[in-house]
Amino acid sequence: MENSIARRIDQSRDELAALTADLIRFPTVNPPGDAYRPCAEFIADRLRKRGFAIEMIRAEGTPGDSDRYPRVNVVARIEGGGPGPTVHFNSHIDVVEAGEGWSVEPFAGIVRDGRVYGRGACDMKGGLAASMIAVEAFLAACPKFPGAIEISGTVDEESGGFGGVAYLAAKGYFSKPKVDHVIIPEPLNKDRICLGHRGVWWAEIETKGEIAHGSMPFLGDCAVRHMGAVLHAFETELYPALDSKETRMPVVPEGARRSTMNINAIHGGQTDDFSGLPSPNVPDSCRMVIDRRFLLEETLGDVKAEVMAILDRLKNDREKFDYAVRDIMEVLPLMTERDAPVASAIAEGIREVFGRDPDYVISPGTYDQKHIARIGHLHDCIAYGPGILDLAHRPDEWVSIDDMVESAKVMAIGLDRLLHGPTQG
Ligand SMILES: [Zn+2]
Repeated sequence: MENSIARRIDQSRDELAALTADLIRFPTVNPPGDAYRPCAEFIADRLRKRGFAIEMIRAEGTPGDSDRYPRVNVVARIEGGGPGPTVHFNSHIDVVEAGEGWSVEPFAGIVRDGRVYGRGACDMKGGLAASMIAVEAFLAACPKFPGAIEISGTVDEESGGFGGVAYLAAKGYFSKPKVDHVIIPEPLNKDRICLGHRGVWWAEIETKGEIAHGSMPFLGDCAVRHMGAVLHAFETELYPALDSKETRMPVVPEGARRSTMNINAIHGGQTDDFSGLPSPNVPDSCRMVIDRRFLLEETLGDVKAEVMAILDRLKNDREKFDYAVRDIMEVLPLMTERDAPVASAIAEGIREVFGRDPDYVISPGTYDQKHIARIGHLHDCIAYGPGILDLAHRPDEWVSIDDMVESAKVMAIGLDRLLHGPTQG
């Protein structure tokens, strides 16, 4: 049966490229969340014709949702002929803005030289199309399968997933017994399995001062200088400590295989969005936004405590130093184990299609898997799909048709293993 699935996918090569191009032609740019409904309806129409039950779910009241820009998600489900698990393929349909520097029209869906070009080609309409073709080939070869198969097209992944996977997860769409295994076809290369991601702590640190006339700064207290002391302590103490942390998480690229922290923004004193002359004030507030990415070996409590220890020490040692910390976002690190059913099934597909073991990777940044784990409490989830992550969000984004064909075969074999069990093939 596997040969017949693979043959069908080979025969669907042009259709797979055309489907990807069709999906790219919906300019589902987020923000603001354009063309979500027609794109979701396009997916729904295709799958309805193939026997799927369709649900269109608008995430009303989530960030950005409005009648002009409704957050419309599609969930398609097809039941097999008997009891068994449900395998779910989840793709986000939103893309980031095209930006400058394109040599092709970003929303034309151009097929050329074995590639499909356009915004979202690799991230991740190519993966969505590959999963649809994989499932369709599986259904044609094996109409009487046990369990159920779901395909979803969800919105807002690029802005945190709150109107998409998070919303659906809160409604039970990503929990047992409705769903057992989830594959997210993000562009992580056709022979790699992404097991999860690092954790995130975004926070705002404010140092406080006292306003005074700038010609007599000694009468006030400069919040920006206090922030300078924080930065100095980060440079000399925190960054070396982060660099020295080791992890068993196989994060790629290698530079992210440790703890990192980006200083996302610093604002002190008067805003810089005016024209004219500033008034001579000593700033009484300075705010820094930090974006700290952490590892399975660290707890969120450890991560915060490291920063707090520095701030508390400055409060002790430095005259008039005072601070406040405000949490902005917290995401725990995630890693599905390599022997989890969904990871094993896709690994078998990779072995069959490429004749080698998969590489296992962890994403440096988060994606929708976080909501499936935290809200849905479903942990048998990985990301696997065609395309090269480095091309995501860049000009002239493309996906290789060969890669889509091969990864569709891997997905179909993985699907077969999950539904029929690893021993029967
Ligand atoms: Zn993506």
